[in-house]
Amino acid sequence: MPSASSLLNFLPGGRGSIGISQLLSKLEVYLPPEQVTRAQEAYELAREAHKGQKRMTGEEYITHPVAVAGILADLHLDGPTICAALLHDVIEDTPTAKDEIVERFGRDVGELVDGVSKLDKVQFKSSKEAQAESFRKMILAITRDIRVIMVKLADRTHNMRTLGAMPPAKRRRIALETLEIYAPIANRLGIHSIKLELEDLGFHALYPLRHRVLDRELRRARGNQKKFLPKIVSGLQNALQRDKVPGRVESREKHLYSIYQKMRRKRIPLGAIIDVYGIRLVVPTVDDCYRALGVIHGVYKPMPGRFKDYIAIPRVNGYQSLHTTLFGPSGVPLDVQIRTEDMHLIAERGIAAHWQYKTGEDAGTSQHDHAREWLSSLMQIQEGGSPEEFYESVKIDLFPDKVYVFTPQGDILRLPTGSTCVDFAYAVHSEVGRRCVAAKIDRRLVPLRSELRNGQTVEIVTAKGATPNPAWTNFVVTAKARAAIRAYLKTMNLSEAIDLGRRLVEQALSDFKLPLKSIEAEQMVAAAQELGFATVEELFEQVGLGERLAPLVARRLLPPEFVDAPRPVTPSTPLAISGTEGLVVSYARCCFPIPYEPIIAFLSIGRGVVVHRTHCSNLESWHKQPEKWLPVQWQQNVDKHTFTTELKVLVQNRTGSLAAVAAAIAATQTNIGRVSVVELDEGTSAITFELKVVDRTHLANVIKAVRKMAEVESIERSSG
Ligand code: MN
Repeated sequence: MPSASSLLNFLPGGRGSIGISQLLSKLEVYLPPEQVTRAQEAYELAREAHKGQKRMTGEEYITHPVAVAGILADLHLDGPTICAALLHDVIEDTPTAKDEIVERFGRDVGELVDGVSKLDKVQFKSSKEAQAESFRKMILAITRDIRVIMVKLADRTHNMRTLGAMPPAKRRRIALETLEIYAPIANRLGIHSIKLELEDLGFHALYPLRHRVLDRELRRARGNQKKFLPKIVSGLQNALQRDKVPGRVESREKHLYSIYQKMRRKRIPLGAIIDVYGIRLVVPTVDDCYRALGVIHGVYKPMPGRFKDYIAIPRVNGYQSLHTTLFGPSGVPLDVQIRTEDMHLIAERGIAAHWQYKTGEDAGTSQHDHAREWLSSLMQIQEGGSPEEFYESVKIDLFPDKVYVFTPQGDILRLPTGSTCVDFAYAVHSEVGRRCVAAKIDRRLVPLRSELRNGQTVEIVTAKGATPNPAWTNFVVTAKARAAIRAYLKTMNLSEAIDLGRRLVEQALSDFKLPLKSIEAEQMVAAAQELGFATVEELFEQVGLGERLAPLVARRLLPPEFVDAPRPVTPSTPLAISGTEGLVVSYARCCFPIPYEPIIAFLSIGRGVVVHRTHCSNLESWHKQPEKWLPVQWQQNVDKHTFTTELKVLVQNRTGSLAAVAAAIAATQTNIGRVSVVELDEGTSAITFELKVVDRTHLANVIKAVRKMAEVESIERSSG
């Protein structure tokens, strides 16, 4: 029998195009009537949308979605997946299609169709081996719902079946992508039947000559095997019956692509592989598996070192079976797999087996639950290994906490979720990070703080002499970027820290009515050395960074006659804040102080002075450390730059409320940073705006403009 086509015959559904009536009768077998009707409606919408379109094969376009749905129907996938398969190419054609699909078939189907369309937009650009693994992960990362992948796999399967109609270059590209991306994904999800078909079709398209030679050899070998196999099968069947082990014995075919890979990987000649016979035993229980193993080891001698127990230690995709190789009649090797019916189903359908339509209690199960169910079933059977480690490895693939993005050269970078353009720049190279001034996502200029999404292409614009911006530390998430920015800023901060430290000590001394100038230089050096510093500068720097407290340092500097002086009762002169202190003075992100409102500062180790509003509700929890508090006040003319602050606005839920409030804020010449919306109840949402304002008056204008809007119920500042 010819291999490629026999494989296809063996597959449920076969190769030829199926009509809608065939599809519906496949569905009637396992879906309730109303879901079959939905599928028919989806078919009608798709037929209308693709009217007049032809495939490269010359067939009507609608034959393609029907075939894709047919492949999924053979896996008994649920109604929404079937509808999505029928509609999967519709969004491409009409921009309004998604809304229509949601309206007519529900959000579930709409999201699935949208997900498949998004996947189609990401193309595998580089054929480098290392890239393939990242690309597979990217595909999984883009997909929130595993059913999207299943539709995509079925779509690819049908496209591969009809690949012959494509021009050669395109054929090769698609075949390569299939072998490197989609077949491994099918394997990862354990959908064996699709994996095998994708591999054989891909192999055939990419290496037609090698395929033909192997195919011819395999056919010849099968001719020989035909004489022996039935005898071997019935011999084993009889032995099982004699020992009262229930179950069936079947011969199984080896597949061209796996043979080809084995030859390449292990460098063994073709003859050594194809002259091996494949046998499978399917029995009722796990116990029967081991008993069957004992029985057949009694019939033919096992080959030493070839036994593998994938029941006790399953493969990572959940595959379970016992594997053994026997010396068959006249020394011909027999490769034997032993498994239960359940294991057989999982081996053929993998994760798809968990998505099969089931009646009753299963109906309300969410897609995440399905995926978790699959994972936990993998966990349970994974007792042999380290479960946590295993679970992590699978979970990361299915629920990724990473984003995958392209460089302009098509290389893929993997970054933690939430990474920004600056993280990307540092990941490319620390020099790129240090010099970055702007970024483009998918060729459009974006702010450097923009968060990256899966599948985007990111380009960093650098400039000679550019330096890292202290504000980046507020949004970068990767350790590499953070460490590099900090290291750079540390060198830049020294002079600022020394300056601030000197001012803090000066302020502390003013409590004793002593100007810093009046302290003898020798006294200063001695005090610094007593505290373990080589120079006075170093001492001031540590004070400026908050590592040392100014009042304690001041006491060391006091001339002898002051040493026994009581702690002054008059409060210190407030330290003036100009807004240009740099990184040693920062503004608390709980209460977001802005110029000319009452403030107080907290000395924070390593961060220097952190300014809070006197109204900040966090202040109470720090009352226990009075020595770390520092009176501060705004300098008369704070440098004109913007300060970040936050407003919380309660609005009535209406279409356009958010846009209206944002527009009102923008009209006051105010930039909006982040916006987040939380729905409080049916009627109200809380919108939090991060704003850039110059001072208190500016903010008051914003509040006034927003408060008078009809849809606004209340407005307040974030205060910790
Ligand atoms: Mn398609």
